[in-house]
Amino acid sequence: MSVAKSSVSRREILRSAAAITSAIALGGSTAPHTVSAQGGVITPEEALTRLQAGNARFVTFTRNAPTETPDLRGQLAGLQRPIAAIISCADSRVPPEIVFDAELGELFVVRVAGNVWDDIGVGSVEFAVANFGTPLIVVMGHQRCGAVAASLDAIRTNTPVPGVIGAIVEAMRPPVEATLAAHTLVQTGRNAPPLTDAELVELACIANIRYVVDKLSTADLFIAEAQAAGQVKIVGMYFSLDTGEARLVT
Ligand SMILES: [Zn+2]
Repeated sequence: MSVAKSSVSRREILRSAAAITSAIALGGSTAPHTVSAQGGVITPEEALTRLQAGNARFVTFTRNAPTETPDLRGQLAGLQRPIAAIISCADSRVPPEIVFDAELGELFVVRVAGNVWDDIGVGSVEFAVANFGTPLIVVMGHQRCGAVAASLDAIRTNTPVPGVIGAIVEAMRPPVEATLAAHTLVQTGRNAPPLTDAELVELACIANIRYVVDKLSTADLFIAEAQAAGQVKIVGMYFSLDTGEARLVT
């Protein structure tokens, strides 16, 4: 799927996002999540550190949640300042708010099977950055992803899938085909034993995460410019169902 160019001036949107950040720094926001440990505005790096700390609590079964209070709900009723926008798989075992032990209002979450690249999801992320000054974007895939496995199978066997599920397969086609091609080259060049289907699924999952991160960073989007300007950080993460750990994909 392609992402259409925004009709709004990207320079205007970048200025708007920067203005939001400045307003927060001047005390224009009462949302609790945007304040850094030093009392300033949370940076992209601090937002990532906060997510990783929350995931560490999830891994060790020491989550803070639930933390909803009347005060927090009241502060969030009039505005939101999420510290991260997350494109995550719709899988029931990978809810970002839980695996990052996040509070109400802390994460702006887009969930779609296979955490694929598509217009609506990417547009939602752009919306968060432009309107809320969100400093961090995470693309998170996970172990044993059924959407990746189904797409891999459909593409490898050239088998049609029912209904509009094919839209997911097509969105995932570039990284899956690249994974299959690389696997074939390795097989031919080294006479190596064939990878198992499970191993191929994990390789395709990582490839899909990198594919979406790369497109967010290089496509004709204002968030790519925001990243270049240091306003936004874009990272990939891989979630292990076995351990609960969300590790960075580099
Ligand atoms: Zn999945």
